[in-house]
Amino acid sequence: MMLNRTKDILADLIAFPTISPDSNLELITYLCAHFEVLGARCMTLHSEDGRKANIFATLGPDAPGGIVLSGHTDVVPVADQDWASDPFEMLERDGKLFGRGTCDMKGFVAAAMALAETLDANSLTKPLHFAFTYDEETGCLGGQHLVRELAARGITPDIAIIGEPTEMRVMEGHKGCYEYTTHFTGLEGHGSAPDAGVNAAEYAARYVSKLLDLREALKGRAPATSAFEPPWTTINVGRVAGGVAHNVIAGKAEVDWEMRPVQISDADFVKGALENYVDDTLLPAMHAVHPEAGITLETIAEVVGLEPMDDNAARDLVTELTGANRVDLVAFGTEAGLFQQLGTSAVVCGPGSIAQAHKPDEYIEIDQLDQCCKMLERLGRRLSS
Ligand SMILES: [Zn+2]
Repeated sequence: MMLNRTKDILADLIAFPTISPDSNLELITYLCAHFEVLGARCMTLHSEDGRKANIFATLGPDAPGGIVLSGHTDVVPVADQDWASDPFEMLERDGKLFGRGTCDMKGFVAAAMALAETLDANSLTKPLHFAFTYDEETGCLGGQHLVRELAARGITPDIAIIGEPTEMRVMEGHKGCYEYTTHFTGLEGHGSAPDAGVNAAEYAARYVSKLLDLREALKGRAPATSAFEPPWTTINVGRVAGGVAHNVIAGKAEVDWEMRPVQISDADFVKGALENYVDDTLLPAMHAVHPEAGITLETIAEVVGLEPMDDNAARDLVTELTGANRVDLVAFGTEAGLFQQLGTSAVVCGPGSIAQAHKPDEYIEIDQLDQCCKMLERLGRRLSS
């Protein structure tokens, strides 16, 4: 029974406390060992500091295209959360499996591993890939690394199924999530002589004002067919900080902001307009008083969106496999957009509800895992001759 095997593997996966900042190497070693027994070709890609890794494994013919099952191995922290049981020991109760990562998203990873065990690799007519990454929860860093490497090696799967928790509903799009901190460095001085200093807080205010102008402009750029809510790219100013006292010219300031693009061209539009504003307007005024003054844009994360497309073979396949009668958009970011950028058609569909993710006593309903197993079994039969 694939479901029982999935539960066993999931219990093993939950026992690895792969919180994003910590190493996931023991989990990767476990997965690699499983894949090697199955005769899969296995590639591991280590992060720069060597403490984490992605795994990309392939069963079936050494041929272009194929299908990739994609998931992340990291989980969000449990600190400051009140759990009724050990988050890293899976517990079954009332038709649910409790543990950190059961839902987001080791349940899908376990089901994909269980599928791999049921397949006869020699009977596969197309390659079946497994992509399991690090640092998804902290900005899709592992996914970016993986997709760069796949591009460099000319590996472009035809279809990617990203098994983030959608309650097995078929999701063909989500907005991107780009987060930034902009740092302003001015020149401190006495508040009675504002022209003798460079007020970082005031330049931050002008920058925020520009962001709000751009936010308005973005409303006119929404694609006519956009099904997102709201249909355009949004900008949010999340935190503004700077200065020390009423009578001191602020020497430093920071603005935390984000945008959620519905299309990559909007992100380019905003970044281009900001760059021009900084280079042509703000910096010359700052430098006229103090040449060392400056503005730097720090990228916290750029998770690209999954743009809904008329042609989407991944959506069509998973709609058929699940028997879904509708396709939706998802409100959270995933690695799907990275695969789309690679030229792979991508869809998000996986077991569990995002409502249970990231919370204390995170769980997945066993029925959800069962539905996922059935979908993957159908996929396995379809790929086998
Ligand atoms: Zn996730």
